[in-house]
Order: sequence, then C-alpha cells, then structure tokens
Amino acid sequence: MNIIQKILFPPVCPLCDAITVEPLLCNYCYQELSFIDKACSICAIPIVHATICGACLKQKPFFDTLICPCLYKSPLTHIIHQFKYSKKLYFARILSQLLLEKLCTQNNFNLPDCIIPVPLHRSRQRERGFNQSVEIAKPIAKYLNIHLDSTSIIRHKKTQSQSQLNAKQRIRNIVNAFSCRKNIDYQHVAVIDDVVTSRQTVNELSKLLRKYGVKTIQIWCVARTEH
Ligand SMILES: [Zn+2]
Ligand SMILES: [Zn+2]
Repeated sequence: MNIIQKILFPPVCPLCDAITVEPLLCNYCYQELSFIDKACSICAIPIVHATICGACLKQKPFFDTLICPCLYKSPLTHIIHQFKYSKKLYFARILSQLLLEKLCTQNNFNLPDCIIPVPLHRSRQRERGFNQSVEIAKPIAKYLNIHLDSTSIIRHKKTQSQSQLNAKQRIRNIVNAFSCRKNIDYQHVAVIDDVVTSRQTVNELSKLLRKYGVKTIQIWCVARTEH
C-alpha cells in the first residue's frame, strides 16, 4: 500500500471497521478475544489446579505439546468462519499473527525442522478452493524461516466434521485417515491446524508421524474448544 492509498483507503479492523495501523484487529476487538492462560501443558485445555489434565494423564497423546493462543469463542469464531467459508483469505494474516505472538512467549522454544499443515481431503479442498491450515502456516513459515511441507502427508479418507460427532464416532471417523506419500525423515515437526475441536484429528496425524520416527511433535493451532 502506498501513502496515497493509505490515506484514501486506510486499513480497517475486519470486525468493527475502526481504522487500524495495520490490516489487523483494532485494540478493542483484540481484547475481546478469549486468550488461554492456565492450561494443560500437553493439550492446552484450560485448567487451574494442575499442570496436566485428566484426559492426558489417562492417555498421553501422540504429540508432545499443543500451543494455542485462544479459545474458540466469539469474536474469533466469526473471523475463522469468514476466513473459511466466505473465502476471506486475508484474514489468515490475523490468525497467523495470533499464533506467532503465542509462539514468541514460549520458554526454551526450539524451532522444528518443518511445519506440516493438517491436510484436507482433496474433494474438500476442491470445494473450498484452499486449505485454511496452509494459509495460516505460510506467513509463520516465512517469518520463522522454516520449511513448509504441505505435500508429504495426505488425507485419503473422506471424513465428516468432527464437531458434529460424539467421542466414539470421532475416533472411528478419523482413524487411519492420513497417509504418507513419501518417506519423511524429520526429527521435530510442528503440525498446524486452524481449530482443534477434539484432539482426535491432530492425534491421528501425530500417530502417523511417530510411525515415521519423528521424535518431537508440536501442534500449533489458533483456537481450541474448551472440551
Ligand atoms: Zn475492531
Ligand atoms: Zn491435557
């Protein structure tokens, strides 16, 4: 944007139309987001009196840790919905920025060898026209200077949306949904997803990565539900 364009068409907040410095959320809308504070050190579910939640103690997931800035609540739900279903691809920058801010607050943070966005089934990708996880991953990979691998893993099984299923159905729906197209030899991988509604999807993908010998698996997502 040049200076004339900036004066004529100043960047506005996508939620309230207030003029912002960047094409990002204004301060007011930013403070309306539900940031996660105290949470399980593995799956990032909000908990107050422990460091690991009951579900992770009962069955440790295949990933090591999930890093997530916000709960999937309004107004973030609105941004993600517009981004995915109304093809507002420039919203990806807001989502990447939120995730990057969270990553920058991590102690002893080691960069992964690569970022793998959760793949969509090819029919879903064709229908939507893009993969939301890839769009969120692109600016992050560029900023952190990490390889973005969106081709090694595919979702060969056409799955239903996990949010409409109960716990047992979720497992059945996603089991063996992913496969590797080539041998991967990463030691440390970050898997990027937009929203984690249950741990099943990212856990299934992590299970596959473990099979290929990946030692450290982090899940990076913009939002997660509370259950
Ligand atoms: Zn605003
Ligand atoms: Zn947990």
